[in-house]
Amino acid sequence: MKTIDTSTWSAIELHGIKAFLLIPSRGEPIKDAAVVIHEDKIDWVGPQSKLSVKYSAIPFARVSYLMPGLWDCHVHYFGVGESDQGGGYAVLASSAARAGARISKDLERTLFAGFTSVREVGGYGGEISPAIQDGSIVGPNIYSSIAPISMTAGHAADSMVLQDIHSLPIATVLDLCAHSLPFAVCDGVEDCIKTIRLQLRKGAKFIKVCASGGVFSEIDSVLDVQFSPEELKVMVDEAARARRVVAAHCHAKEGIMNALNAGVKTIEHGSWLYEECIALMKEKDAILVANASVVEGGMQHVDELPATQARKLRQVAVHSRKAYRLAIKAGVKIALGTDQSRSVDGTFNSHGRNGKEIFWAVNAGMTPLQAIEACTATSPETLGPYMAPKSGQLKEGYDADIIAVSGNPLENIDLLSEASNITHVWKGGHLYKSS
Ligand SMILES: [Zn+2]
Repeated sequence: MKTIDTSTWSAIELHGIKAFLLIPSRGEPIKDAAVVIHEDKIDWVGPQSKLSVKYSAIPFARVSYLMPGLWDCHVHYFGVGESDQGGGYAVLASSAARAGARISKDLERTLFAGFTSVREVGGYGGEISPAIQDGSIVGPNIYSSIAPISMTAGHAADSMVLQDIHSLPIATVLDLCAHSLPFAVCDGVEDCIKTIRLQLRKGAKFIKVCASGGVFSEIDSVLDVQFSPEELKVMVDEAARARRVVAAHCHAKEGIMNALNAGVKTIEHGSWLYEECIALMKEKDAILVANASVVEGGMQHVDELPATQARKLRQVAVHSRKAYRLAIKAGVKIALGTDQSRSVDGTFNSHGRNGKEIFWAVNAGMTPLQAIEACTATSPETLGPYMAPKSGQLKEGYDADIIAVSGNPLENIDLLSEASNITHVWKGGHLYKSS
């Protein structure tokens, strides 16, 4: 892989890419195509035969297969590494500085896997994002919720990655959340409103709440319903006043229904998303982010998990596989997210393996083109109408976030699973990776 000389960036205002095949994401693929980039936006897309003479003097890169930069709509940057001790307490035990150092590598891995944008549903990524924007480190565009918000004894700060954190006094947990931990706990209408405002104050581009129990939390069941309908409603309303939408972690059916009735934009996981939920999702134009990678990858290692988590994951796998197939068949709007969170290289949920989610989407019934659309053009919609950038499509006026692939992903979707098959990555018009 070539090192990119960033000193030449400002000089290239207008440049282009020619490709054997261009997949715009929405619309039909174009053979012998070209893209023209002006600064950080796409200026023109079409067949090379229709390229205007005004572009005849600009430099063109040549690649085989071109498509929009990918989006991971469910990712966490916690920076917990192999050397961190403390089991469930690892996020607490690792210093924020050490986590940040690891995350800078994770962000680079994410970008070089072809993922030019991520929607972080809780983690340190939102805090680190300005360092990417000012060029200090290399990474994708980050749209973060800052904290995942849970109730006391809920799935997130009071249990999730910190599985056994519930054995700490609640005052200690709240103190950590108030200082550096990227989690939040709230109960009751007033506290919920205040907690939303605190996330907005830290720069949240959307809000993430946990409306049911989860797999990696110790004390709850995935069938538990978390937050009352009133609490969910005030959080959605408070977010809406700031033009933000809400993403809801939910497995259990009642949690899904409560979240949808409260007006959330996305259902994360949606393991028990059967007929009634599907009908309501379509009525509300809500989006499913199923996170098949964490289920399928987790199932390959299920025997290595602690007994409680292994039991929950098996239970979730049975239902979520069925629900994902049903949702695809029913035409529910879907965006792809992985739930990747580990700073340890080579595991199923290590950062940089995000593209496997596209393989799982095809495995669950999407066509390759549908899966690519779910991982590009549909993704910005998960941020709602006000926060969604013009991204995820090779289209005039859109962000010049573009990748090239070594082979045709429409013939072999699994090519997108490996970062080594992503030959080029442009973000905001700049070339970050070239092999
Ligand atoms: Zn997650």
